[in-house]
Amino acid sequence: MKRPGTVRSYLLDIEGVLVRDKSYEPVPGAVDWFARLAASGRPYCLVSNNTTHAPDELTARLTSAGFPVDADRLVGVLDLGRDHLLARGHRRLLWLGHPRLADWWSAAGCEPADAATCEAVVLGVNPDLATADLDAALGAVLERGVDLVSLHRNAFWLDESGRRRLGPGAWAAALAAVGGAGRQVTIGKPAAAIYHEALKRVGTAPTECLFISDDPEADLVTAGRLGMRTAFVLSGKHADHAVLGRLDENDWPDLVCERLADIALAAATGSPLDTAD
Ligand SMILES: [Mg+2]
Repeated sequence: MKRPGTVRSYLLDIEGVLVRDKSYEPVPGAVDWFARLAASGRPYCLVSNNTTHAPDELTARLTSAGFPVDADRLVGVLDLGRDHLLARGHRRLLWLGHPRLADWWSAAGCEPADAATCEAVVLGVNPDLATADLDAALGAVLERGVDLVSLHRNAFWLDESGRRRLGPGAWAAALAAVGGAGRQVTIGKPAAAIYHEALKRVGTAPTECLFISDDPEADLVTAGRLGMRTAFVLSGKHADHAVLGRLDENDWPDLVCERLADIALAAATGSPLDTAD
């Protein structure tokens, strides 16, 4: 399957595409590819489910890794999650994500709370999350019916040593299974809102946009259903395309390649989607 037309803008996942994992080591060839994209003047932005680094920390880490990026080029789940929670009037949070983000939530106008007083249970990546932490949330979800807000639904992620770790998608599925009267909300990919925000940033039609990710299930299915072109790179979560066997053929990516540097950058007038020579 290959959707026709030209590519005029780029939406990029970060981990597994620009950098390998939480080590922020660049994928070979990605620094040069990114520099050429920036020099081309093509609209682009990064669309990230990152919940381990505050947005300014993330852009600083990427810049030091060789990807100079301004804050307005980052569409991230922490900012979108904060906006969602504050719009709902939810300031007291049972935060089950990474403890290092607690200060960021405080600066964003939220405060930590326990299951008895929280207004939302919020999930993000947390390498030290224990079953007891999930147990502690049960009262809030089941008895008080507070919202369960998952910053993303990735089932697993790669830590700084490249090791697979269960992620918020797995924890959210566990808590959602117990029931409760509150809403179950997903902020980041694969929910559509973050894609719409990214499209606003680049200002092109979805059909003119190429979404590049190492995660076809969590990132590219929605992109494709919204009409974007999609590229699956094998430099992150999946070393081969076997994962596509889990997907309907209609949801397969338009392009599968080893890494970002294999993707041809559109010329000034745009070009059909293809791999670099
Ligand atoms: Mg990724």
